[in-house]
Amino acid sequence: MSINQKSYDYGAAKSSIREIAAYGAARKAAIGAENVYDFSLGNPSIPAPEAVRASLEHSLTLPPTQVHGYTPAAGLPSAREAVAKSLNRRFGTAYGPNDLYLTCGAAASLSISFHALVNAGDEIIVIAPYFPEYRVWIETSGAACIEVMADASTFQIDTEAVRAAINEHTKAVVINSPNNPVGSVYSRANLDALAEVLHEREEELGTRIYLISDEPYREIVYGIEVPWVPDVYDRTIVTYSYSKSLSLPGERIGWVLVPPANPEHDELVLAVAGAGRKLGFVCAPAIFQRVLIDCVDEPSDVEAYARNRKALTEGLGSLGYEYIEPDGAFYLWVKALEPDAGAFFEQCKKLDLLPVPSDSFGCPGWVRIGYCVSYETIVNSMPAWAKLKALYE
Ligand code: PLP
Repeated sequence: MSINQKSYDYGAAKSSIREIAAYGAARKAAIGAENVYDFSLGNPSIPAPEAVRASLEHSLTLPPTQVHGYTPAAGLPSAREAVAKSLNRRFGTAYGPNDLYLTCGAAASLSISFHALVNAGDEIIVIAPYFPEYRVWIETSGAACIEVMADASTFQIDTEAVRAAINEHTKAVVINSPNNPVGSVYSRANLDALAEVLHEREEELGTRIYLISDEPYREIVYGIEVPWVPDVYDRTIVTYSYSKSLSLPGERIGWVLVPPANPEHDELVLAVAGAGRKLGFVCAPAIFQRVLIDCVDEPSDVEAYARNRKALTEGLGSLGYEYIEPDGAFYLWVKALEPDAGAFFEQCKKLDLLPVPSDSFGCPGWVRIGYCVSYETIVNSMPAWAKLKALYE
C-alpha cells in the first residue's frame, strides 16, 4: 500500500462510539426515533446559552474582514485575555494571554500538548477507563500509551498503580476529572497523593513528569468542587474546550493553558506554539474566539443534566442495576449483567438500548450510558431496562 498504514488503520477501525451512534441513527430512521434509546454520544442535549447567539449576531455587524480574517496563531490577544481573566477570578491565579493557546477543542488541545512534550521512546500514562481517542492522539505524537486502571471500587486514581507504572520513559500522566466515562471527580486528597507520587518518582529517576489535566466537563458537576489541578502540581498543563460547558461541540473552540508556575513555562509555551504549527492547528475559528470574549463566564445549564441523572439513577437503581454515582459530566457507569460487556451490549441492542460497552474505554465489564439526551428518552427507556434485567434473572 502506498498510503500511510497507521492512518489507514485508524480510519478503517473507526471509533466504536461513533459506530454505535451511526447504528442508532439508522435504527431511528427504520423504526422511529421514539423507539430507540441512544445513549452513545457525548453530544450535549441542552442548547448553547442565548448570549452565544447575541455574540454571533453582533459579530455579523462588524466588517467581514475583521470577523473572518486570520487571527494570530495562538488566538486573538483579547480572547486569550478574556479567558485568563475568567480563570483568575475563579481560581485566584495571575494568568495572562501568553499562557494560553486557543484551539479547535480539547481534541486539538490534547494533541498539541502531547506533541509539545513527547520525544521518541517516551510513554504517557492514562487512567483507565479513559476517553478512547487519547490512545490515538498519544500514539500519533510518537509516545506509547500506558493504561493504569483506576481504583476498582471508587474509580479515583490508584496512585500506587501509577507509581508502579512510572519509569524513566514516562513523560506525562493524563487525568480527566470530571471523568468520561465514569462521571467521577477526583478529590483533592487523591490529587495530592498523585502529586506526591509524581514528585517521588521524579526524584528517584532523575526525570521530569508532566500532568495533563483534561477538563472539558469542569463546569458540569452536581454540588461538588473540582480542585484546580495547577494548585496541586506545578508541572501541569490544562486542556479545555467549550464543547460541553457551552454546548458548542460542533464549533471547535478550546484552549491549552501553561501555568506560569511551570518550571519550564517559557520553553513550553514555545513548544505548544510549535506543536500547533507542526500539526496545522493554528488560528482557532475566529468567530468563536469572539464568542469567548462575550461568553466566557456564561454558566453551564446543569439543571437538565441533574434531572436526567436523578431519573436514570433512581430508575436503574430500583431495577437492581449497579452503578457508580456520578459527581460530574453526563455519563453513568453501569455494571454489565454479564462479564463480557460486548455480549451484554448485544442484548441491549435487541431492545434498542444503545449504551457504549466499557471495553472501548480500556476496562472490562461495564457500559457507559450518556444522559445528555432528552428526559423523555430516559423515562421511556425504563421498560426496556426492566426487560433486559429480567433476561438475566
Ligand atoms: N476529552 C474528553 C474527556 C472528552 O470526553 C472529549 C469529547 O467528548 C474530548 C476530550 C474532546 O472534546 P472536543 O469536542 O472539545 O474536541
